[in-house]
Amino acid sequence: MTDPLPPHDWPQMHPGWVWLCGAGPGDPGLMTLHGLNALRQADVIVYDALVGDGILDWAPQAEREYAGKRGGKPSAKQRDISLRLVDLARQGKRVLRLKGGDPFVFGRGGEEAQTLVQHGIPIRIVPGITAGIAGLAYAGVPVTHRDVNQSVTFVTGHDATGNAPTALDWTGIARGSQVIVIYMGMKHIGQIATQLIAAGRAPTEPVAVTTTATLAEQQTIETTLATVEADIAKAELTPPAIICIGQAVTLRQVLDWQAMARGIPARKLDPLDRGRPAEAG
Ligand code: SAH
Repeated sequence: MTDPLPPHDWPQMHPGWVWLCGAGPGDPGLMTLHGLNALRQADVIVYDALVGDGILDWAPQAEREYAGKRGGKPSAKQRDISLRLVDLARQGKRVLRLKGGDPFVFGRGGEEAQTLVQHGIPIRIVPGITAGIAGLAYAGVPVTHRDVNQSVTFVTGHDATGNAPTALDWTGIARGSQVIVIYMGMKHIGQIATQLIAAGRAPTEPVAVTTTATLAEQQTIETTLATVEADIAKAELTPPAIICIGQAVTLRQVLDWQAMARGIPARKLDPLDRGRPAEAG
């Protein structure tokens, strides 16, 4: 296979290639232009549970294959999905592997890409907007803010076995991470919060939980480390959810732009009590 990498403006999808593409967190408008360009050319789209419905409608010409994987439910095996992509590419199809968010962020895109390369299939990676950034933004929580954090830690709330990740050094994370963004954290959030508090985080530290972010059903609760598990249950929140732990959550009081668009004024204009306009000094 000697096809050169297509040019970068509106690249052409060639038969036998697989493009691994991020579809963003749900709102179709958060798909990239490269992604849209791919949707218009694909012969077949192999997509995940978290790909927004409207997005597939942009590819009426393409066959659709569902390869959803959701925690706890029976789902296609990862190896089978990867080999299916190899198979489709070998049939000479233009294959679009469409994943929620960004394909390389907790999405197994790296594993699929690796299998494709190992089988000699040419690939292109189309990054997407990840839920851990866009989900917070849609909830009015800036993932970085000069007065809050100079770093962000993205973690997964469960590992390949479905358990809370044992490989993670929660004490180290508790000590070193200013803002912690947790993917797939709903199931084990109680355990995670307990470990963070045991390692020194304040039980009163603010936490935001946002479900189905960027879609019409988006819901956010604000809570604390000590109460997050109980409040999720009380609000009957269900996955997918992004959980943000840290002072960044406080800024939602002034940045909940979706509430403001509905006519609800900001709760506090200076939630960090800086006593000065945000842009000063
Ligand atoms: N590759 C994806 C993440 C896949 S892991 C990305 O970059 O966003 C799946 C997890 O992502 C979910 O359990 C949830 O934690 C998060 N997630 C994805 N879409 C979401 C959405 N619309 N709202 C809230 N969380 C979402």
